[in-house]
Amino acid sequence: MTTTHDLIVLGAGSGGLATAFRAARHGARVALLDPAALGGTCVHRGCVPKKALWFAAQWAQAQHLAKAVGFASQPGPLDWERFNEVRAGYIDDIDRRYAQRLQQAGVELIRQAGRFASADTVELGDGRRLQAAQIVIATGARPRTLELPGFELGMLSDDVFALRAPPRRVTIVGGGYVAVEFAGLLQALGSQVEVLAHERLLEGFDEELVDALERHMRQQGIGIHLHSEVRAAHRDAGGIRLDDASASREPVDAVLWAVGRVPCTATLGLAAVGVDTDERGHVKVDARRRHHPEGADAGGCRRRATTG
Ligand SMILES: Cc1cc2nc3c(=O)[nH]c(=O)nc-3n(C[C@H](O)[C@H](O)[C@H](O)COP(=O)(O)OP(=O)(O)OC[C@H]3O[C@@H](n4cnc5c(N)ncnc54)[C@H](O)[C@@H]3O)c2cc1C
Repeated sequence: MTTTHDLIVLGAGSGGLATAFRAARHGARVALLDPAALGGTCVHRGCVPKKALWFAAQWAQAQHLAKAVGFASQPGPLDWERFNEVRAGYIDDIDRRYAQRLQQAGVELIRQAGRFASADTVELGDGRRLQAAQIVIATGARPRTLELPGFELGMLSDDVFALRAPPRRVTIVGGGYVAVEFAGLLQALGSQVEVLAHERLLEGFDEELVDALERHMRQQGIGIHLHSEVRAAHRDAGGIRLDDASASREPVDAVLWAVGRVPCTATLGLAAVGVDTDERGHVKVDARRRHHPEGADAGGCRRRATTG
């Protein structure tokens, strides 16, 4: 059976939800598809749980400051179990509230993954088909993994939110915003953190700001090693040890791989409907983020910025 809409949105993360709400407000018949909880990376594995950790980190620092200026309170550690419980309660409620708002907006929410059956048709897991003149791909990104020995010994950013206690010593591999943010958070919450960055921190950001940030991070006690090239990870009696091209690092209790994010486009059936992607799976789009079939407006194509 094929159902017809004006717009189908694949993915109910920040991008897909905003698109669906806006289109519905303009009177479009919208179908929004997602097999996972509403809100995507930002709500469940990104901004929101990260900001919760950020608040905790601020309170940890404020405790020390309070004592330094004469308060009688003693800085104490965070009860991560309790903290995770409170955070989960808040996040679960976001899914329920989005579902309610989508219903009020008249968006048809379908809790299944979709893939292209043809240029204007999406097929669901249960075999149903939806048709629309416009289809938006908002399937986000996931943490990139590397083919190197011992990679499985480390965590990805998603795993940080499942930690039940801060690692005593942690190495973060990567120099992007995920690496830098977690470095500050974990150090403030009691871990001894070192960052191994490929080139410099926050490549592409304003250099003066990055230099100031790097100085500040070092003052906080975070070890920063630039121009690192991690080749392998292995476990020995002391913990997890990373082999860098230039040095064998001291063992640590945990490793966080923060080596970039890759788009979730592999299972969408894009090639079959003539949608071009680059070698990492980014859909090639023009300056207005529209895909053009091969050959059309090739000059305006640029890589889609994947922030997720
Ligand atoms: C650790 C971390 C911290 C971050 N902190 C911030 C921050 O502080 N501020 C900020 O602005 N940004 C932050 N970001 C980035 C932000 O999370 C992303 O930019 C944002 O979530 C991207 O939204 P999206 O809609 O493109 O994709 P996503 O949020 O990833 O949503 C994609 C959705 O598509 C669904 N999906 C996948 N395949 C299919 C399919 N075939 N059919 C249907 N649905 C599908 C997925 O289940 C998912 O729900 C952070 C990211 C991370 C990882």
